[in-house]
Amino acid sequence: MAKHLNGQLLAKRHEAKLKASIAQYLPLASHPPRLVVVRVGDDPASGIYVGKKQQACGRVGIGSQVIHHPAMASQEEVLETIQQLNNDSSCDGVLVQMPIPSHLDAGQLILALDPAKDVDGLHPLNLGHLLKGEPGLRSCTPAGIMALLAHGAIDLEGIDALVIGRSILVGQPMAIMLQQANATVTMAHSRTQDLAQQCRRAELLVVAAGKPGLVGADWVQPGAVVVDVGIHRRPSQGNGEKGNLCGDVRFLEVEPIASHITPVPGGVGPMTVAMLLWNTVQAWQQGCCGVVTP
Ligand code: NAD
Repeated sequence: MAKHLNGQLLAKRHEAKLKASIAQYLPLASHPPRLVVVRVGDDPASGIYVGKKQQACGRVGIGSQVIHHPAMASQEEVLETIQQLNNDSSCDGVLVQMPIPSHLDAGQLILALDPAKDVDGLHPLNLGHLLKGEPGLRSCTPAGIMALLAHGAIDLEGIDALVIGRSILVGQPMAIMLQQANATVTMAHSRTQDLAQQCRRAELLVVAAGKPGLVGADWVQPGAVVVDVGIHRRPSQGNGEKGNLCGDVRFLEVEPIASHITPVPGGVGPMTVAMLLWNTVQAWQQGCCGVVTP
């Protein structure tokens, strides 16, 4: 039976370390750390994610604020908000909550962020720093997965890893981080031929396809480490209650044969939020005290 890589528990430990780090640097800083989330439109899942991020900020002593634009906001209006936040010295971290309405150009908004405040690690400069292995703000989900793997004492040296999904948010930075940890990385995506065969070869499987239940036991090598990034709500049973959450991996099938597995919920999700908090504190420390974290 697989050991669980418990993101909930590990995120709590990170929160305790963050609290201590904030207390240590607060006397040197002009203000406590502060995160601003720019939200456009009313995507209901985004509302829940933003709420969780604000609660987590509150637990560790990071101030947080949401600037909420209506769905019909123009590119110029959102850009103006970003510029104001870039110039606001009391704001340390800024993120644009995705998804945004399709008439907006997400790439241009990210590019407008001050890279030093880009706590989602999506600005091209920060992605470039990642590629070169230089210090910089890292994408939260893959950074959280690396922390989970380290905590689970998974030896990545020379391991055959398969990353399913090639988004800029998850798959691409994940593959780079695993390569930098000396894994041998294959990337799979929607055009990959014989995904089942690729999966069976993998000693480490990171599944970020956004397809509920894509990976079952017949695709997983016994003893493999399985990281499930996907998060989906199952349809309601019609009893008035919300359906359960599930991932891209069929957990009950895969748990008996994997060596380690991340649950959904309670695996990657809480670590993504924990890394967002770290990035905000890192941006604050650098802005206020000139501290650069490697
Ligand atoms: P995305 O839609 O941008 O990218 C999905 C990728 O999967 C694409 O590269 C696509 O080529 C690939 N893909 C799609 N179907 C495939 C298939 N059948 N076989 C192989 N590859 C396939 O999604 P994303 O932003 O990378 O997110 C992926 C999933 O992770 C989503 O379910 C998202 O909700 C979830 N997510 C969770 C967290 C978290 O904190 N837990 C954070 C970010 C994303």
